[in-house]
Amino acid sequence: MSDVKLLSTPVPPGGTIGILGGGQLGRMLAMAAARLGLKVHIYSDVADAPAFQVCDIHTVAPYEDDAALKKFTATCDAVTYEFENVPSKAASVLATIKPTNPNAKALAVAQDRFDEKSFVTSLGLKTAPFVAVNSPEDAVAAFAKIGGPAVLKTRRLGYDGKGQAKVKSADECKAAFASFKSVPSILEGFVAFGFEASIVAVRGADGQFAAYDPAENIHENHILARSIVPARLTAKQVDDTKTIAKKIAGALDYVGVLGVELFVQKDGTLLVNEIAPRVHNSGHWTIEACIVSQFENHIRAIAGWPLGSTERHSDAMMENLIGEQAADFKALAAKGGGLHLYGKSEIRAGRKMGHITYLKPRSN
Ligand code: AMP
Repeated sequence: MSDVKLLSTPVPPGGTIGILGGGQLGRMLAMAAARLGLKVHIYSDVADAPAFQVCDIHTVAPYEDDAALKKFTATCDAVTYEFENVPSKAASVLATIKPTNPNAKALAVAQDRFDEKSFVTSLGLKTAPFVAVNSPEDAVAAFAKIGGPAVLKTRRLGYDGKGQAKVKSADECKAAFASFKSVPSILEGFVAFGFEASIVAVRGADGQFAAYDPAENIHENHILARSIVPARLTAKQVDDTKTIAKKIAGALDYVGVLGVELFVQKDGTLLVNEIAPRVHNSGHWTIEACIVSQFENHIRAIAGWPLGSTERHSDAMMENLIGEQAADFKALAAKGGGLHLYGKSEIRAGRKMGHITYLKPRSN
């Protein structure tokens, strides 16, 4: 870790932020950086990445191409990512050349569900019960331990419900493990939660911490459909969500924005489901409803600037536009919300094409 480059002075306006990944998160990060007078260089492995449309420089190359990564990094003053499955080798190449955040530990913890849940419980925070599953015998033993129903998940590379199966017996658990081609997995107890929530927070290079108000999240087909703020949480629960994020960020020596997905049990208990070491879909409403958005705060943090206010001036509802829901742009534009279309080259089923945020005067 000694060869990691640390930020000694803030990146001034006119400096260049490098972003690995060119999807909608990279696009909105680039737009926020532009607002601060910073330039952006996007690196993506796809030729028509949506973020290319709004940045100063772009590179198309595989994430395994060390020479391209080095060339990219040489043009940047600070580097960040917009997705968590950055190959760890790529991350270490970047971090030895320029200040790169979130750091390698945060990426490693978030990339592996077993390490992530073990880390979270080591902080005294609650998760669903979980056990590692590395063999068909483990699958049977894990089901005996956790009980049913339960959810088998691959340890790595799962998102939006991919690499997950709900199981109701030891046999089903074994079959699901085989269907995942026996890759290392975990079995989790199925949580009959009241609803899902998330907390989006930011930690600066100097350890300064700030959090947005938690959102209540509604998923459809395992994809986030809507985020609503304020969530149906008591003032104590709202404080608790912020404390959870602060503990996680502090323990990771984290710099940047992170999202923590939570299950709110019917008795009010908060369970941590997942840590996202990046800006988060459930924080898109902050663009319209807060003084400084999650995107700008991420850029501020990784550039070594003071953080901006996370204060919420309005109630908000953010709706994702998935697949064909984004097709009729005129109807969407007439709806009265803040419309964001991501500039993706084609509509595909299940693809996040845009989002729309509606505001109301703040109720609490
Ligand atoms: P994840 O990929 O872990 O974020 O899971 C995607 C979605 O599956 C979550 O947002 C939940 O709706 C559901 N889910 C995941 N794990 C569990 C669990 N242990 N109990 C109940 N629902 C779950």
